[in-house]
Amino acid sequence: MRVTKQSLQASAYHEAGHAIADVRFECICDRVTIVQCQEDGTLGRERSVYGGDAEHRLIACLAGYAAEIEHDPRSEPQAKLGATDDFDKARGCLRELGVKCLLAPWHKKTRQFVRDNWRAIDMVARDLVEVKTLDGYEVELIVNIADGEPDAIEALANHRLMIGHSGTRQFPFTVMQLSEE
Ligand SMILES: [Zn+2]
Repeated sequence: MRVTKQSLQASAYHEAGHAIADVRFECICDRVTIVQCQEDGTLGRERSVYGGDAEHRLIACLAGYAAEIEHDPRSEPQAKLGATDDFDKARGCLRELGVKCLLAPWHKKTRQFVRDNWRAIDMVARDLVEVKTLDGYEVELIVNIADGEPDAIEALANHRLMIGHSGTRQFPFTVMQLSEE
């Protein structure tokens, strides 16, 4: 698979959708990346610490696709192709829930979830395009920033200084934060 700027962006929004669902459903995002996999050439991975209940897992499975087409509706055919595994997992959750095997209503529900959380998804995706990998705590802090928590930007800068990550265009380290170290 050839990596283009467009495919990196699509992957960033896809993985950000999974990551924000995991944070919101308290499944804890462990790590999210859009670095190309050496083995199968695919872009993007997101890992959560907990699975959560079937309903939340279902939305988390579909959130990658939903975020990708929310960002760029024209990417729909490509996004669908890339989400084959996600959709299979979602159908597994449906079976677990014992409901009729239709994904359509869940796509609708997930689309709403993605719209309600767009600020956080967009912020995480922008940082992913720039730095390619975020740890779970960075994602959590970006969600706090999106939620308007007053100390979250400084907390993110401090965490990134500590783990040796750089600032990003939307969250640069300010001179003040650096001199306080
Ligand atoms: Zn996915």
